[in-house]
Amino acid sequence: MTRAVIDHSAVSDGVPLGPFTTYRVGGNARWFAEPTDLEELRSVLKTTPKTTKIVVLGRGSNVVVSDKGIDGLVVRLGGSFAAVDIRDDGSVVCGGALPLPQLARAAAAAGRSGLGFYVGIPGSVGGAVRMNAGGHGSDTAAVLTSIVVVDTKSGELSIRSVKDLALTYRSSNVGPTEIVVQATFHTEAGDTQELEDEIRSITRWRKDNQPGGTYNAGSVFRNPPDQHSGAIIDSLGLKGTRIGPVKVSEIHANFMVADSDATAQDIWRFVHTIQNLVQTRTGILLEPEIVFLGAFEKEESR
Ligand SMILES: Cc1cc2nc3c(=O)[nH]c(=O)nc-3n(C[C@H](O)[C@H](O)[C@H](O)COP(=O)(O)OP(=O)(O)OC[C@H]3O[C@@H](n4cnc5c(N)ncnc54)[C@H](O)[C@@H]3O)c2cc1C
Repeated sequence: MTRAVIDHSAVSDGVPLGPFTTYRVGGNARWFAEPTDLEELRSVLKTTPKTTKIVVLGRGSNVVVSDKGIDGLVVRLGGSFAAVDIRDDGSVVCGGALPLPQLARAAAAAGRSGLGFYVGIPGSVGGAVRMNAGGHGSDTAAVLTSIVVVDTKSGELSIRSVKDLALTYRSSNVGPTEIVVQATFHTEAGDTQELEDEIRSITRWRKDNQPGGTYNAGSVFRNPPDQHSGAIIDSLGLKGTRIGPVKVSEIHANFMVADSDATAQDIWRFVHTIQNLVQTRTGILLEPEIVFLGAFEKEESR
């Protein structure tokens, strides 16, 4: 365990991380901070020893936190980082912690089109930039203009344009020592009624095609070029396959659903077992899209 102490009023010791994730698993953060504004974030970073590992957590909808927790400082943006400002020129400036469904609904209510696809993605703006989140024919790369990033080691702020982020399918060059604190999106004018209908239709599609109300982190594997991981897993008859407290969703084969008593290691084991099964039977190595944070036992999973 790291021994140094982070002496800052905004930093707590030993905070359970499971409740901050959609899988609801994982151990404690050695230290945890939820800064409410840029000044507090930078002051926390300044107080943190340079050797301390810093991990940023958004809404935890694409991660599995290790049962051993994170031996470092976990930063989760709070307070004013969830603000959204829709400007007269159609640009939408928002904080890194803003939940994506709120962004989608705010833009639709203001008659701005382009951001409706975010309504079904339960992440934050920062997580969406890092993962280039997308769906329903769009993605973050298509709607983002620029971001403001804080470097966790130096505390320096920088502005990066969308073309500098290497946004490709579910990937970006935003590194593990960078925190997206703000993002600016571009939108087009639209009809509020039509935009709200779009929101309703996407929400309905999600309810019909995804296992809502369960512990999961969305699509587990990235899609290989021109294929769908869910279709590959389904073609092997694996829907509903269960090992202990984790199963392949019967509704969407790329969703792996955990029972409330599952551990992070159970999820790790299950994901790697499915990965090995698919590779053995099809020769295709599916690459996880979900992010495993912290240490996992690299056990034999075939
Ligand atoms: C039911 C369900 C449906 C989903 N559907 C979709 C979908 O349609 N399309 C899609 O793309 N994804 C989908 N996801 C996955 C997930 O919602 C997205 O990847 C989302 O962008 C993750 O955001 P987050 O805030 O939850 O990030 P987290 O899960 O908290 O973190 C993900 C990664 O981003 C990093 N990160 C988080 N915040 C920041 C920040 N402010 N600055 C820098 N790095 C940061 C973390 O360190 C981590 O590496 C779904 C998930 C669920 C549970």
